[in-house]
Amino acid sequence: MPTSDLRAALAGLRGVVRENVPLAPLTHLRIGGPADWFVEPFTEEGVALAVRVCRELDVPLRVLGGGSNLVVADAGVRGVVLHLGHLNRIVRDGERVTAGAGVTLPSLLRATKEVGLAGLERLTGIPAVVGGAVAMNAGTRDGETFDRLVSLTVVETDGSIEVRGPGRFEAVYRDGRLRGAIAVQASFGLEPDDPKAIFERFSASLKKRNATQPVSQRSVGCVFRNPPGDAAGRLIDAAGCKTLRQGAIEVSGLHANYFVNQGSGSAADFQALVRQVQERVRERTGIELEPEVKFWGE
Ligand SMILES: Cc1cc2nc3c(=O)[nH]c(=O)nc-3n(C[C@H](O)[C@H](O)[C@H](O)COP(=O)(O)OP(=O)(O)OC[C@H]3O[C@@H](n4cnc5c(N)ncnc54)[C@H](O)[C@@H]3O)c2cc1C
Repeated sequence: MPTSDLRAALAGLRGVVRENVPLAPLTHLRIGGPADWFVEPFTEEGVALAVRVCRELDVPLRVLGGGSNLVVADAGVRGVVLHLGHLNRIVRDGERVTAGAGVTLPSLLRATKEVGLAGLERLTGIPAVVGGAVAMNAGTRDGETFDRLVSLTVVETDGSIEVRGPGRFEAVYRDGRLRGAIAVQASFGLEPDDPKAIFERFSASLKKRNATQPVSQRSVGCVFRNPPGDAAGRLIDAAGCKTLRQGAIEVSGLHANYFVNQGSGSAADFQALVRQVQERVRERTGIELEPEVKFWGE
């Protein structure tokens, strides 16, 4: 498809449309090549227009959140990458807080803590944006994103904008089951509490995380989903994989389900290490570890 067709079709979009944009700086791992097209709509209607255009022109479309659960291929990705950073409003209505998909979780948690609304502490330390947290049903042992979700606005695969209530939520462990829809706005039902008490819960959870996970290094968080009744990190450690290395990608010595980029790692190295660890765990336990991380591109 000539690139001029896509540019012309997106001419009415309120937002920024760029070509050949490097994705590595937008991911936590800092690896991967460029997106052919990078589209940043200013409004939900802009997201809907981009979805309709890509569908009509048969152009692949992906949504980038905070890039904290992504390995982008070294050759980058074809088609359009949508970035929702401009959907960044937070609105409070009593005990209900509504956030655009581009709001970062840390800023949402800060805002709710400041006004004395509790319930999102379970998401402390997750470096996602609201859209990515919903798509992955991000969470910790203390709870998940959908626990407090009361309403979700999405752009469906046909480009229509829909509001889903709890009756239509299908989320499971680490999967919001959006079925191709794009989350553009989420409302959370919270409860009043003393800001000091909320702050103390935040701090305790951050302290625990800092002591047990390599939070200051470049990673995607947990690489594999926990198999039923066990922890992927424990299995990887027991299979002797801590500090196993492929190029500049290393299995963390602090938490074996984290792979860290020690400098100039590549997506190819990351994938090779995933396969190696899967193989060793399979040989030792018969368990097939399933990646939680998303891989983009060939
Ligand atoms: C240091 C560190 C700690 C972490 N700790 C945790 C943890 O405790 N618990 C946990 O669950 N995860 C954790 N993670 C992983 C990661 O933060 C989560 O998976 C998070 O939900 C990813 O959100 P994101 O905005 O970064 O999405 P991205 O990584 O950008 O995207 C992830 C997936 O969501 C899709 N997506 C993004 N936005 C949207 C949208 N608006 N609509 C539809 N689909 C969308 C993308 O297309 C992609 O498939 C951690 C990661 C790091 C680096």
